[in-house]
Amino acid sequence: MKEVILLKNGEIALKGLNRRTFEDQLIKNLRHRLSPLGAWQFSVAQSTVTAIPQDEYTDMDAAADICAKVFGFVGYSKALMVEKDMDVFRTVTADYLRDALAGAKTFKVCAKRADKKFPLTSPEICMEMGGVILSAFPHLTVDVHNPDVTVSIEVRDKAAFIHGNQQKGAGGMPAGSAGKAAILISGGIDSPVAAWMMAKRGLQLEAVHFASPPYTSERAEKKVHDLLGKVAAYSGRIRLHVVPFTAIQEAIRDKCPEELFTILMRRYMMRIAQVVAQENDCGALITGESVGQVASQTLYALACTDEAVSMPVFRPLIGMDKNEVIEVSRKIDTFDLSIQPYEDCCTVFTPKHPRTRPKLYYVQQAENLLDSDTLIEEAIRDTRVLMIRAH
Ligand code: ATP
Ligand code: MG
Repeated sequence: MKEVILLKNGEIALKGLNRRTFEDQLIKNLRHRLSPLGAWQFSVAQSTVTAIPQDEYTDMDAAADICAKVFGFVGYSKALMVEKDMDVFRTVTADYLRDALAGAKTFKVCAKRADKKFPLTSPEICMEMGGVILSAFPHLTVDVHNPDVTVSIEVRDKAAFIHGNQQKGAGGMPAGSAGKAAILISGGIDSPVAAWMMAKRGLQLEAVHFASPPYTSERAEKKVHDLLGKVAAYSGRIRLHVVPFTAIQEAIRDKCPEELFTILMRRYMMRIAQVVAQENDCGALITGESVGQVASQTLYALACTDEAVSMPVFRPLIGMDKNEVIEVSRKIDTFDLSIQPYEDCCTVFTPKHPRTRPKLYYVQQAENLLDSDTLIEEAIRDTRVLMIRAH
């Protein structure tokens, strides 16, 4: 008898021939994420992964919290793995689920019998165990439609599992199963949400942050580390490239028309991010832009930004309202960090009247005033790389 965690596969259960590849990635991610808590063994059957701790004293609550953030699972629950024997079920169930049942008003029993040789049918198991639970908790009543607690008894090939309500998993696809992309990360509310949304679709993340010391502080960069730490709790560790951006911003300020400052800066960011992305096997760039949010996010400005790069640019927030983005940022626990007031390089030298309809021709003319190749080369040469792990 042992406590384990059952994790229900999400979309990958629908995959055809290459389902194994997705499952392997999912288990690899899970193993990696649970490894700080000790050694684990994993098995897969009926679209469910069973995570079995190998050490005697593993913190199973901490393990469940980690499981809640692994993309690819739609649900999870701690469960008691026991012998396939009705006497055992009768003896342990009420005690194992004591906390949940004591606090509930209604319950039902749900039995699943994958092992058809088990002497009782599923309805018989339900009847029998319903009675056992009612005698242990006489205050409960049965509600088959909307119970506070569903007691599950799953009789599988090698063992049986007893558990209470299944918790909601993170959903999405296993991190890394869809390849890699580079997220342009600022210290704002939007880009960490954009990172999380694309990681949820199975992308492994490489992050690029532009810092402009002395205009931006070390504390502002630390904020980005902390934000990525929150995202990494879902996506797995993230390599962060911190690109010095001061020289480029000063060159634009000194030589180019003020109203084009923002769009020029954005194009340099995209170009540099593309080089980092290409050097690190990424197939796309990701930003936290959404239509109409600020001057650099009009259709004209977005088209002008895209023109600077050849890679696909993913903007998962493109049609979202700020409130909707904030809702996600609260859910993934980045909101409180994002609203800390540290300056971003975007807020340095912001023009009073940025162009909302920049013309590509004028933008390119302004860029010709700068030695772009050298500026970009130097920024990339002086880029620092750090590894950010889950916080
Ligand atoms: P955010 O909340 O993500 O800062 P924002 O609404 O402030 O977004 P902008 O400042 O216009 O929007 O930035 C748009 C996008 O450009 C960001 O979502 C991010 O992807 C990228 N970006 C902005 N500043 C930086 C930076 N310093 N380093 C890297 N990427 C950045
Ligand atoms: Mg920003």
